[in-house]
Amino acid sequence: MVAKTIPVDPFDLVILGATGDLAQRKILPGLYRRMCAGQLPSDARIIGASRTDINADGFRAFARKAITEYVKDSRCNTQGLDLFLAMLDYEKLDVFADDGWKQLKRHLRKGVISAFYFSVGPNLFGEISHKLTKHKLTDENSRIVVEKPFGHDLTSAQALNRDLTSCFDEHQIYRIDHYLGKETVQNLMAIRFGNALFEPLWNAQHVDHVQITVAEDLGIAGRGAYYNKSGAMRDMVQNHLMQLLCLTAMEPPSKYSADAVRDEKLKVIRALEPVPESDYVRGQYSGEKNNDSYLDHAEDPDSLTESYIALKVNIANWRWAGTPFYLRTGKRLRARMSEIAVVFKDPPHSIFEGEFNRKGNVLVIRLQPDEGITLRVTIKEPGPGGMRLTEVPLDMAFSEALGEQFSFLPDAYERLIMDVIRGDQTLFMRGDEVEAAWAWVDPIIHGWQRSHQRPLPYDPASSGPDDALMLLHRDGRRWRKIKA
Ligand code: NAP
Repeated sequence: MVAKTIPVDPFDLVILGATGDLAQRKILPGLYRRMCAGQLPSDARIIGASRTDINADGFRAFARKAITEYVKDSRCNTQGLDLFLAMLDYEKLDVFADDGWKQLKRHLRKGVISAFYFSVGPNLFGEISHKLTKHKLTDENSRIVVEKPFGHDLTSAQALNRDLTSCFDEHQIYRIDHYLGKETVQNLMAIRFGNALFEPLWNAQHVDHVQITVAEDLGIAGRGAYYNKSGAMRDMVQNHLMQLLCLTAMEPPSKYSADAVRDEKLKVIRALEPVPESDYVRGQYSGEKNNDSYLDHAEDPDSLTESYIALKVNIANWRWAGTPFYLRTGKRLRARMSEIAVVFKDPPHSIFEGEFNRKGNVLVIRLQPDEGITLRVTIKEPGPGGMRLTEVPLDMAFSEALGEQFSFLPDAYERLIMDVIRGDQTLFMRGDEVEAAWAWVDPIIHGWQRSHQRPLPYDPASSGPDDALMLLHRDGRRWRKIKA
């Protein structure tokens, strides 16, 4: 059985777009796993809504199939599935028509928390907000959950924020970035602010540089049309990588609360320097065999969209001036790997004779695969024959260190949905954060759009274009290996 948790308060959760991909792969399986963990109150209600003409039993059959397919944990078997399915209901609803909303209102109870998960395209966010308000489905205690992409530039993000805030207070809006729901990402804050060990070293005086990598081994097959309008900068850097950068670079918040944490993240984004053309490298994978190049899937033979980007980012504040953050992300790379590596400076003076292949102290926070933390330290090589030095990792895979009870870490989505019900916005992006991120990203994108810059080709299953290596080599540094 999964580690037990205290049930949240009774709630009505409406999934708008309940028959879509996200609902079947993440939301419904995530909610079921929370039930297995004992976190759903027995009177929780989950109401699906979309245009598909099914009734409650049809939706339960859909959910059963999704859970059977996507919940692969022996401690959360299908024994409790009927109990979960009994919590489900469904309303056929077209966002643009009025009648479905009136019917939906009849499912909602008074006096319990109501949450509305907008699991639909962002073009429907505004209309849904207005319909929820018009038909009085919400009160001041209701929450809405919106998915990425949150705009495609500053102007569209501002328009989206205006749409949402014309109907809801900021404290009711939960903008999901599922990277923030990952166990290790929260652990980054625990490590930094829960130990006296690291924080005194966490600055430009002791940290040489930071590398943030989000590498994917899969290409864009099946998502070509969507991805081609976006590219790595919009799809990954503007949200996920910037959130990781913020949590790594921010000042200690005065307390672990939503606005205290988000205020500090916002200060980091506002301190980011503009990135000149010489400090980024864009790539596009180009396989000659097996029709495996980006252009084979992009539905645009002349596409200039990048499937890879690496950037050198400088933060103009006292803590980080002179210590660059190197970010990279790409599709169809050698392996699926996400990590933050904090590379410390060498000791100022060595008392030991002789050379060894020093790579230095590195703290690696692994997001995937196998979430955990590694600290590389220098030790004496065992045995007689003098003082020979070598480097070893102090490795902590959470699943091993915390024992059987915690070997089953919750998926980011299930944690975040429960935070919505609990009313905790700490791991969600605030409107001003999203806009500040776009304000930094937009000029970089405009720069390469103006010059019609063609992304550099790279081989599938490689570590990206060679020029990305130079981004670090010219600074006397090197990227960490991309490996599973
Ligand atoms: P999807 O598979 O296309 O599903 C969209 C859902 O919206 C369907 O249930 C569809 O059902 C419903 N819908 C569309 N038009 C509607 C209308 N006029 N009225 C009522 N319902 C309508 O999309 P998705 O992949 O689940 O993505 C949902 C959202 O999450 C998007 O914003 C996406 O960018 C974001 N997201 C998805 C993922 C993922 O892994 N899938 C990851 C990150 C973010 P009917 O056709 O039956 O109406």
